[in-house]
Amino acid sequence: MSIMPSTPGSSVLPKVKVSPRGATRLKQGHVWVYRSDVVSSDDVSPGALVTVADHRGKVLGSALYSSSSQIAIRMISRETASHEPVADFPALLRQRIADAIAYREQVVRDSNAYRVIFSEADFLPGLIVDRYNDILSFQMLTQGMDANLVRETVISELTQRMSPAAIVERVDPRVRDLESLPARASGLLRGEKAASTFTMNGVQFHFDAFEGQKTGAFLDQRENYAAAAQFAHGEALDVFCYQGGFALHLAPCCSLVTGVDSSRPALEVADQNAALNHQLLNGKEIEWIEANAFDLFKDYAASRRQYDTIVVDPPAFAKSKRELDAAMRGYKELNLRALKMLRPGGILVTCSCSYHVSQADFLEMLASAALDAHRTLRLIEVRGQSKDHPVLLNVPETAYLKCVVAAVN
Ligand code: SAH
Repeated sequence: MSIMPSTPGSSVLPKVKVSPRGATRLKQGHVWVYRSDVVSSDDVSPGALVTVADHRGKVLGSALYSSSSQIAIRMISRETASHEPVADFPALLRQRIADAIAYREQVVRDSNAYRVIFSEADFLPGLIVDRYNDILSFQMLTQGMDANLVRETVISELTQRMSPAAIVERVDPRVRDLESLPARASGLLRGEKAASTFTMNGVQFHFDAFEGQKTGAFLDQRENYAAAAQFAHGEALDVFCYQGGFALHLAPCCSLVTGVDSSRPALEVADQNAALNHQLLNGKEIEWIEANAFDLFKDYAASRRQYDTIVVDPPAFAKSKRELDAAMRGYKELNLRALKMLRPGGILVTCSCSYHVSQADFLEMLASAALDAHRTLRLIEVRGQSKDHPVLLNVPETAYLKCVVAAVN
């Protein structure tokens, strides 16, 4: 018996059949199928590119398969024209990357730091690429994206199109574990440079590729920084300030700014960022306080501290649906305290990055906090994540950030 080498165009992709429920989900525009909706899978290897079909065998498109995640199927193409929709996978990847870059050219303003590729929202499930000026930081979050051919194609295409000084990989060991991927260290993949500075909305920031949270900064808040700065005034408190994203944007329009975070390393960078922006700050100093936000709010309430602008941007309290009730209590406590501490005419900027907390839940919590605090809130803006973190309308999971700017009386 001879084994024929696989050639493009021949039918070589394994087929995964999904249940009617899984097929309906895909037909409604979603891009995931859970393991419980997979009815049969040929001998599929982890991370393989597969043809997806309904239970009768009708082809629905192509996907990347995960052998370990609850999300077994992540669609990469809805092309169903031929028997094997994706004949040239590297070419498809290159096209997707080109499209993602073109979209950012359309929507990103006043920044050389933004998300270049946002996973499902760019039809590249499991791939995150962030640009920080001349450094690209990427994360591979799924078996399919971690395959060598995919990695090499992505790196070469990004190098060619964006000419970065360096490309670094930020590894989240927990994610690799969930996807049953072998451990890998974070590191430089191209070039030598691991630190730089970047600018958003005219404010400068330090970037260190292997430090900090996420891939370095909270790029999803970039447009919200500018929105907050439009309305901020007087004495401002930035709670959960991290490296000073909001605080630095507020400083030029406020008389005094205090940033609070429990992470000392984050505050050290925040202070360096303030120094980097000395011209913009024009001699104004920002005070950085290392504290637990809940404790600090209690202390400040006891001493009757008052502010004109308060930003509340906590970490995701609800990482799963199960944690939702506790999360809502946490959000309510923080917002209630912030509302009580605002002078009449004050500005509240309040955020939640938990996907499990819907915008409706968040506004309801805020309404209830306003009642309890005996304050009137006028919604100035109800915002989401920056446009470089696009929301795919039929994939609700791609919308996660809420940012409300309100006037408080
Ligand atoms: N506003 C920031 C992002 C905040 S991320 C920005 O735009 O860049 C959440 C931050 O909350 C992290 O910096 C984390 O160190 C901090 N944090 C987490 N729990 C905290 C707590 N209990 N008290 C104070 N800070 C906390």
